[in-house]
Amino acid sequence: MEGHRRRIESGEEWGRRLDMEGALTARDRVGIQDFVLLDETTEAAFLTNLRKRFCNDLIYTYVGTLLVSVNPYKELDIFNKKQMELYMGVNFFELPPHIYALADNAYHTMLTEFNNHFILISGESGAGKTEASKKILQYYAVSCPSTTLLNTVRDKMLKSNPVLEAFGNAKTLKNDNSSRFGKYMDIEFDSEGDAVGGHILNYLLEKSRVVHQNHGERNFHIFYQLVEGGEDSLVQQLGLERDCQHYNYLTQGQCAIVSSINDKNDWKTVRNALQVINNIYSVQHLFEIIASVLHLGNIRFDSDSKGHALLNNKAELRWLLGVDAYTLQEGLTYRKIEANKDEVLSPFTIDHAIYARDALAKAIYGQTFTWLVNRINESMENKDPSKKTVIGLLDIYGFEVFYVNSFEQFCINYCNEKLQQLFIQLTLKAEQEEYEAEDIEWEPVQFFNNKIICDLIEEKHRGIISILDEECLRPGEATDLTFLERLEDKMGNHPHFVTHKLADKTTRKTLERGDFRLLHYAGEVTYCVVGFLDKNNDLLYRNIKDLMCQSKNAIVRECFSTMDPDSRRRPETVVTQFKSSLLKLTEILMAKEAWYIRCLKSNESKQPGQFDEALIRHQVKYLGLMEHLRVRRAGFAYRRKYEVFLKRYKPLCPATWPHWRGVPADGVEVLVQHLGYLPNEYKMGRTKIFIRHPRTLYATEDAYER
Ligand code: ATP
Ligand code: MG
Repeated sequence: MEGHRRRIESGEEWGRRLDMEGALTARDRVGIQDFVLLDETTEAAFLTNLRKRFCNDLIYTYVGTLLVSVNPYKELDIFNKKQMELYMGVNFFELPPHIYALADNAYHTMLTEFNNHFILISGESGAGKTEASKKILQYYAVSCPSTTLLNTVRDKMLKSNPVLEAFGNAKTLKNDNSSRFGKYMDIEFDSEGDAVGGHILNYLLEKSRVVHQNHGERNFHIFYQLVEGGEDSLVQQLGLERDCQHYNYLTQGQCAIVSSINDKNDWKTVRNALQVINNIYSVQHLFEIIASVLHLGNIRFDSDSKGHALLNNKAELRWLLGVDAYTLQEGLTYRKIEANKDEVLSPFTIDHAIYARDALAKAIYGQTFTWLVNRINESMENKDPSKKTVIGLLDIYGFEVFYVNSFEQFCINYCNEKLQQLFIQLTLKAEQEEYEAEDIEWEPVQFFNNKIICDLIEEKHRGIISILDEECLRPGEATDLTFLERLEDKMGNHPHFVTHKLADKTTRKTLERGDFRLLHYAGEVTYCVVGFLDKNNDLLYRNIKDLMCQSKNAIVRECFSTMDPDSRRRPETVVTQFKSSLLKLTEILMAKEAWYIRCLKSNESKQPGQFDEALIRHQVKYLGLMEHLRVRRAGFAYRRKYEVFLKRYKPLCPATWPHWRGVPADGVEVLVQHLGYLPNEYKMGRTKIFIRHPRTLYATEDAYER
């Protein structure tokens, strides 16, 4: 295990790097690598340092072991195999900050301590989270020892990325490749450090995008890739036109073609990566589904003299999902109601029919996405899960504020609120509580705790989610507006909640009557309540569901027959399912050792070389980076239980080797005295030793390895 580490001071690369930073009179020109070493802990000093580094294409800076990353919006020559090799097995602070250094340290800590880790990547939409998570995965793929067999798992892990991005990412106004689902991926390692398996948990895909896109936004990439890049024979077989403009579901945002995206090329990558699904028939079925959704979107309705919906273009039906055309037509224009054991058909209006059509498209796409994740998980499955440790990678949709914000933004921003809460709990709060518990002298650092907003959203019986769910239980009576009224009744004068009715004169001018505004940790967001109840209910009519269970398309059949098996019970609402999945995620993460990457967006126009100071200052503020820095500076980078510390390092001191007969704390004291720790480098707590700077521990670790 120890063999993985290597000293590199004499290495040619290291010398070159040092020269590079040295020649620029490091501090003045390129800033400081670790904010902890700044002379002042003011926001101005922080931003100046960040700017200096950004202007020199140094996008990474540490705050202790936390990595700050600023999106450069251009390709930098620091992500290649040579760079990876440079960082392999090297102690954190020996080389310029890099995402590889963080990945490598998490990996080596996992191997030496045989415990589980996770890397929390956060930041707003477009800040670079997904790119960061891909770089980490690539690093593990290259750096871990390999055998032929294991290469296949690794290959699958890498291939899962383009596939899930094609199906789960889309162009938004904030980001041309915005993640519209949350992803948590465990990479599983055996005790030799080989990557032996992977597992993905996916969170709430933004399904509404399938049927509706705001101006300047697109549907999920895969649709355009298939239409633009699909092989002639495939496109023909699926009955598609090779023109995105032909499809209702692809043109609402009026930007099907985007200069930064090459759908044709991306299709080739995705087609190749779809090898993660071992079955070629399944891949064919997958394409049929994508095409079916497009055909479905082109179905239009007229109304007859009684105002009942009639299908306008039946021709599209024959391309749909291997189901009986007549029954599908019936399903899209009538609702089946059971009355006294009889079935009665109740005709739809045009609006109802459109609703049923869109609900079907969303359900098919959403179910297929889950199916895809399951297949990817099967292909990456660890064949011997008995001995494993994991590194989890969390890459979720970032905080977002648009001109109009809806249910989707509410869920996404709630999720970011929860992750910020986790960060606070694990760093600022836990850290300070630990010093107190261990009797370490400490000057408390004040910080904003966003628990108040999490409670506002999710508290049982009183939070926004509970009220929304209660309204969803009153079909026929409740509307989006009654939901808003109930919020106004319950939230009254909450400091983070306001509506048109509750606002003072000045604020009222900025709010519409159907809006509510939340003051999130990352800023104000005004949500328009229209659609909240529908989207939260996410209903699909029973007869359509039953019909899908008879589809000739195996994926559709499988997905719909496993959907809420207990049909008598009311399915959980979307937001409640999301809330429980986030709770589970928090539990998964809390049981692991955390590493943090805080991504910052450099400018709103996605341009290289632009450092928008106001935008960055805002992010530095709400991400709590200044508070984190203050805690880090005043505190101790490392702490270990006396028993653990003694067990590992006792060979370094004759008095503690092979056995220390007294209490562990005394043994540690003897040991560190012997190692020459200076009094201000460490403190002895009740149960743990606290070490101020990582360098001290690294020196000890190096002595151990020699
Ligand atoms: P969202 O929350 O919307 O999913 P995100 O934080 O995942 O956003 P990314 O998709 O990772 O954002 O990054 C947005 C874009 O910024 C990328 O498509 C790429 O163009 C650019 N970018 C991000 N990180 C880097 C990087 N390290 N080097 C070069 N370009 C980058
Ligand atoms: Mg992303």
